[in-house]
Amino acid sequence: MEATLEGFASPHLFSGSTLDGYTSAVWHASALLADRVKAVRQPYSGASVADLQAQVDAVDLDRPLGDTGAALHEAARLYLDNAVWFHEPTYVAHLNCPVAIPALSAEVLISAVNSSVDTWDQSAAGTLIERRLIDWTAGRIGFGPDADGVFTSGGTQSNLQGLLLAREETLAGLEGREREEAIPLLRIFATTESHFSVSKSAGILGMAADAVVGVATDGTGRMDSTALAAAIDDVRRDGGIPMAVVATAGTTDLGRIDPVAGIATVCESQGIWLHVDAAYGCGLLVSQRRRHLIDGIERADSVTVDFHKSFFQPVSSSAIVVRRGETMRRIAVHADYLNPRTATVPNQVDKSLQTTRRFDALKLWMTLRTMGSERIGDMFDTVVDRAQEAYRFILDEADFEAVAPPTLSTVLFRFRPEGLSVAECDALMPRLRQRLFYGGQAIVAGTTIGGHYWLKFTLLNPNTTMGNLKDVLDLIREIGRDLLGEHEVTAVMA
Ligand SMILES: *Cc1c(COP(=O)(O)O)cnc(C)c1O
Repeated sequence: MEATLEGFASPHLFSGSTLDGYTSAVWHASALLADRVKAVRQPYSGASVADLQAQVDAVDLDRPLGDTGAALHEAARLYLDNAVWFHEPTYVAHLNCPVAIPALSAEVLISAVNSSVDTWDQSAAGTLIERRLIDWTAGRIGFGPDADGVFTSGGTQSNLQGLLLAREETLAGLEGREREEAIPLLRIFATTESHFSVSKSAGILGMAADAVVGVATDGTGRMDSTALAAAIDDVRRDGGIPMAVVATAGTTDLGRIDPVAGIATVCESQGIWLHVDAAYGCGLLVSQRRRHLIDGIERADSVTVDFHKSFFQPVSSSAIVVRRGETMRRIAVHADYLNPRTATVPNQVDKSLQTTRRFDALKLWMTLRTMGSERIGDMFDTVVDRAQEAYRFILDEADFEAVAPPTLSTVLFRFRPEGLSVAECDALMPRLRQRLFYGGQAIVAGTTIGGHYWLKFTLLNPNTTMGNLKDVLDLIREIGRDLLGEHEVTAVMA
């Protein structure tokens, strides 16, 4: 006889008969989190890589603690005590937002029910909720009833999928040419300010190493549509095949918005796919004061939106939305065990690069149903206002410089007291930034523009005040002076 597991019920698996253990574990986790967060006063502990490496390495994964409470305490020590806290007002480094509480309540449901929005029979209403949100987003973009899309893990995947659809559409339009012969000739047009996932995608899509053609910018970092038209002509003349133009609505560094309407006109006249990467700028879709900045986005073929950036959603929450839903059919692959061609139910896997996929859509749903989209738009407008205020403040400080007026919520600046050359400043900024990070009191980003190093505020926290930003600038000034002092001493000693 076969051995039987009858009567065996693991106390660790979520079910109707383990709810006491479940509610206690979740309650403990949230209580522990609240307890830790209450004590947080700065975005980082300042722990070094070596410190944390030693602590993580010291755990013997083959000796379980046997008890969720004990494991939670260990995780709190290893993880929470040294987490980077995006809700802290002096965390102003990357495109990370403080998260909406309604979305966190959704996380509780999503993770326990563990729906997978790949097929109808693994998600049911989850599929319909996701579809409503895609339709809602498409409506905000200004797409018509033919629009479609799918949630993804992030802007990187959304951009990859947008470009995959562009590739398939382009190849389908080439008569009498073999795919293998055409793919190396395909070209994508984007500026150097576009996200690095564009060139990564080109590689994944089997395109040539020089497939991404850099289009000149207008001096403020926005794509020049006249230069775009010329670049397309050049490519055609050289035997290349234009596949897509990527316009960025909110570049990662400068927050610039490429002139989408002008670019759309070029794409329409040339019959080229327009992908708008609004991973960062999608918050404008719900802004009451700045929606016009992305006018023309409704003429795109595909749009990337990252709800986990400017919609205050927990990671992951992103989507690819397309104007003509039928373009997604080209990438549908069917399997008898999952989504047979004959299926009569909605199977989201037909449209996704992923198979098993989280029901992230519920987080946005809960947020919209609790707060409404205007509140999200207001929060995004607030951080954009704050960036402009911070820029003006920095301009007035004699020992700071700023790059240019912000479009969205990033401000590029550096500490450069009188007498410090540009080269010295370029060398000082990365050291200053590192010292700031390990001090733990504030975190800023760093980048290079035109070969020069700049510090960057990325504001996504509406609770960050000008007072907080002035404190960060004071800290930067203090560290900068200190490092310059050290520098003089070493120079004398050498
Ligand atoms: C952040 C970002 C991406 C990548 O999104 P992820 O969610 O990090 O994968 C793509 N494009 C732009 C403009 C971005 O700012």
